[in-house]
Amino acid sequence: MATDKQQLGAFGEVLVTRRCACPKCKRRKTLRRLPTNFKCADLVCDFCGFLAQVKSKSVTDVSRLPATLLGGAWSVQRERMDAGIYFPLFIVLVASPRRSAVYYLSADLQTRQMFVARRPLAKAARHAGWQGYYVDLTHMADRCIVRLS
Ligand SMILES: [Zn+2]
Repeated sequence: MATDKQQLGAFGEVLVTRRCACPKCKRRKTLRRLPTNFKCADLVCDFCGFLAQVKSKSVTDVSRLPATLLGGAWSVQRERMDAGIYFPLFIVLVASPRRSAVYYLSADLQTRQMFVARRPLAKAARHAGWQGYYVDLTHMADRCIVRLS
């Protein structure tokens, strides 16, 4: 049984594939979801190979970007940044199944400062020691993030 977070993530990914053209080749209906265990990206364009991540968040007002988004494993993100690798990011804000918005942040405009390590999980936690990160949008929101739909 999928958790609420997984369901929200899947909803966001499907929404992008339905609403958004591929930012690279401009075709419609070519973005496809990748399997969950495919680590670096959530969507691929089956025409040009464009890869993107999708981060979804529940909000009350889809017209305002949140200050932060929850990321995945910090170790993986840090290694990618050390290698200079950033992925284009779709941000899906969901107020209800019928009220949602899709935003886009190009990989070229992302900075290292956006990705902030969280404290490792406490010893008592199920995945003790695991360290995640969050995406800080406060410096990017006005200038770099475009609303697509
Ligand atoms: Zn494409």
